[in-house]
Amino acid sequence: MIRINENYQKLQASYLFVTVARKVEAFQKANPDKKILRLGIGDVTLPLTPSIVQAFHRGVDEMAQDSTFKGYGPEQGYAFLREAIAEHDFEARGAKVGPHEIFVSDGSKCDTGNFQELFSQDLKIGIPDPVYPVYVDTNVMAGRTGLAVNGRYEGLTYLNATKANDFVPDIPSQALDLIYLCFPNNPTGAVATRAQLKAWVDYARQHQALILFDAAYAAFIRSPEIPHSIFEIEGARECAVEFRSFSKTAGFTGVRCAYTVIPDTVLISDEQGKKHRLLDLWNRRHSTKFNGVSYPVQVAAAAVYTDQGKKEVRQLTDYYMENARLIRQAVTQAGLEATGGENGPYVWVKAGSDSWKAFDEILEKAQVVVTPGSGFGTCGEGYIRISAFNHREKVQEALGRLTRLWQQK
Ligand code: PLP
Repeated sequence: MIRINENYQKLQASYLFVTVARKVEAFQKANPDKKILRLGIGDVTLPLTPSIVQAFHRGVDEMAQDSTFKGYGPEQGYAFLREAIAEHDFEARGAKVGPHEIFVSDGSKCDTGNFQELFSQDLKIGIPDPVYPVYVDTNVMAGRTGLAVNGRYEGLTYLNATKANDFVPDIPSQALDLIYLCFPNNPTGAVATRAQLKAWVDYARQHQALILFDAAYAAFIRSPEIPHSIFEIEGARECAVEFRSFSKTAGFTGVRCAYTVIPDTVLISDEQGKKHRLLDLWNRRHSTKFNGVSYPVQVAAAAVYTDQGKKEVRQLTDYYMENARLIRQAVTQAGLEATGGENGPYVWVKAGSDSWKAFDEILEKAQVVVTPGSGFGTCGEGYIRISAFNHREKVQEALGRLTRLWQQK
């Protein structure tokens, strides 16, 4: 008799955003005349920019000609894109990454979720709290945890990110094997300084651990001293993997393109102590389970690195960062404690003691959708995440409603 993977039964509530969507749908059904404004899910709202669309069209036109048609491409991505990434995202920032160390994919959600399958079951895993829920859930699905007790899975080490440490987890006192880090952080918008990242890299090297560094929001960093890549840190090429995405950088959430960087110097031991290049393991996985990103999408992604493309996508992120500034200003003026919004598109707001209660109240009284902080981890309890991804007028209207709600308190 066929049976399900029992680990799926350990998963706590349904995926956070599914629960939010269900609540919003129920509210709209009960109140059809109310206009709901969404500052919840981190999805972009501005369209693709002109030079990227042009490149996209060019890629499609090539597929329509006998002489330029392409079938399956390299699973790892076309050289023209991998070379552009290496040059502009890394070399230009003084980080050493070669095109052969870059694996183009259809999303960082898949890459951050799939990466754990390269490792043994008995790992000591450190995951920030709060953080993007995919890291925890995919390790639960893979059977690396026990049951959840009071919102935390047995067997995982949670790295608390709280006001006390400026939302950057402290270096653990115990030895961990696999550490997930996410900066700029979803949901807090916090960033790690060079010194903080260096401390993590030193820790990883000391314990022969691996850091999985999710930099999906690197394009939103505005403070010049904050590193965009972990490979700007000395020693990271021995102990880190980095995930990047075109989703938020260039409005690709519906187009789908991302990449993962694995230095050829990251070596991982097998049971006999023999070292393997992590890059070779991921290459084996990637080329077995993935058949490459569509050619026109890769042509469009490469256009992000042209002079014109760079200007255009900077305008996109600037637009969202101005929203973030307005959000943070309104929250602060209302006398609430807020962080983020300066180097990331999220503002993290202390909204009482119960996140879902705050979510419900804001939905019912202001018809604004935010994201309950507790959905990102137990340290998120009492917080809400306000996303900067929306049209300016909608953000302003939502902030007007929120300000009125907060003034009544
Ligand atoms: N990593 C983080 C921290 C995210 O917040 C998101 C999306 O919200 C992703 C990865 C997923 O990105 P992608 O659209 O490339 O799958």
